[in-house]
Amino acid sequence: MTDLYQQMIVDHARRPRNFGPLDGANRTAEGVNPLCGDELKVHLRLSDAIEAATFEGAGCAVCVASASMMTLAVTGLRAADAARLMQCVRELVAGGDGKNLGELESLKGVAQYPARRKCALLAWRALEAALAGELAKVSTEL
Ligand code: ZN
Repeated sequence: MTDLYQQMIVDHARRPRNFGPLDGANRTAEGVNPLCGDELKVHLRLSDAIEAATFEGAGCAVCVASASMMTLAVTGLRAADAARLMQCVRELVAGGDGKNLGELESLKGVAQYPARRKCALLAWRALEAALAGELAKVSTEL
């Protein structure tokens, strides 16, 4: 992992953006990653597009940083575009090159640590569930 990437993850983990409940949220999903102990909730205000996204919970630095970056990246996107972005992030943490992903590219280093991929993807799995309107908890172990 390059220093720049590491710094970005540390920065988001220390000062997560869009952290907390969301006024007027109409979609919420919870994600757990029992292997690491990460637990978070993603809240969305969804109309034609994602008007706002926040998250709450606790997790390791990679999990919190990924969630923080996710809320920034998906705000303003239509559900289909958010799903496409999610696919790009999946490929990135699986070792793909993930070009033009902005800050999310800092998750690239996670590809070297398979156990950490679930941490990086947890918020995205919860986002996917929230967009699908599922209220159930999602787990990385299912
Ligand atoms: Zn974790």
